[in-house]
Amino acid sequence: MDNIRVLELYSGIGGMHYALKESGVAAEVVAAVDVNTTANEIYKHNFPSTPLRSKTIEGMTLDDFDKFAFDMILMSPPCQPFTRIGLQGDISDPRTKSFLYILDLLPRLSKLPRFILLENVKGFEISSARDSLVSTLKDCGYTYQELMVSPTSLGIPNSRLRYFLIAKAPPGSFSFHTSSEILEGFPSPAVQVVPEPSLVKSASCRTACQEEDKEKQEEGEGQILYKLETAKQADRKSSQNNDTSVRQIQDFLELGAEEGMEDDEEGEKYLLPAKTLLRYALLMDIVRPTCRRSVCFTKGYGHYVEGTGSVLQSCLETEVEEAFRGLEQLSDEEKLNQLSRLRLRYFTPREIANLMGFPKTFTFPENITTKQQYRVLGNSLNVHVVSRLIQLMVS
Ligand code: SAH
Repeated sequence: MDNIRVLELYSGIGGMHYALKESGVAAEVVAAVDVNTTANEIYKHNFPSTPLRSKTIEGMTLDDFDKFAFDMILMSPPCQPFTRIGLQGDISDPRTKSFLYILDLLPRLSKLPRFILLENVKGFEISSARDSLVSTLKDCGYTYQELMVSPTSLGIPNSRLRYFLIAKAPPGSFSFHTSSEILEGFPSPAVQVVPEPSLVKSASCRTACQEEDKEKQEEGEGQILYKLETAKQADRKSSQNNDTSVRQIQDFLELGAEEGMEDDEEGEKYLLPAKTLLRYALLMDIVRPTCRRSVCFTKGYGHYVEGTGSVLQSCLETEVEEAFRGLEQLSDEEKLNQLSRLRLRYFTPREIANLMGFPKTFTFPENITTKQQYRVLGNSLNVHVVSRLIQLMVS
């Protein structure tokens, strides 16, 4: 059978392309489209033979699209209009325009693509953009399923709860029972097709999704223990760390956790600067290499500290509780002394790429700065999660 012809829209650094490869489905990306020059440079570096259009999606005509003769669309439209922290401009946000353009084109294509996969942030499910998507798919006769999945459900110690929609053109149907409800986690047969059994978590993902929601709810609830953390939050973290169906952070690290950090220049580069330690110490999410959790890495990581991803404790001789004890009473110099004992550092871009499931073959061109690397990774997706969804969609 011929390869499935895939159109990768909003291609970024190619997270979807890696997921497609990992899925083992016989397919080829016949065109990738993105306007971001940095992301495109990285994409080209890793996929030199994939045709990449460096232009806006709405700048392409129906005819342009028809010429690709594609069978599958993989897409992650810009998420800022739908994020909880964003302004939630939804369809009135100019960044949604290209997506609405795709929806308008879809029924007019000379041939409906057999498969569509969309990824977006939590929040998309309650947007009008989602409603337009679903009604367009219904009008065209697609069978579809919406899901909410986090990599933790595959045993990966990183939270990244995302909205997904997979769709199959008529007369297609899925190998699992579809539901009009948004599924929380993979439907059960999907978990059985995973090629790496060691990565599969047996517990249902319902728990993972609900946990992430609770985490959000609990912010600002209850009495603060230390480090602006409530007992509930501390309990949650500790139960996550005891869940042995999830791998440990250390499996994803490239720089030694403890050894090698002292005089390793590379390591030094990632240590949190004094100013950041003093200003944000109480807000940081700190993990040890033996932990089985980390929070979602977003594009401001390494630059803004609050809520952009976990930091790593690279000296394990001191307990976090100890370093934070009585901190408020200390002078800045003493505070710094105490906090420095933890040797807190950022995860490197490579480590974040590891957590996000990017293969070792994925690299950055030399001229791309660390800040740019964090930024594009923060915009990307978990490759393993999307790979499972692609398998589920085509099976
Ligand atoms: N899945 C991608 C990331 C998607 S983030 C990855 O793995 O990296 C959204 C992407 O959409 C960004 O790279 C942004 O440059 C691109 N984008 C936003 N609006 C666009 C438009 N109108 N036309 C083409 N690309 C657009």
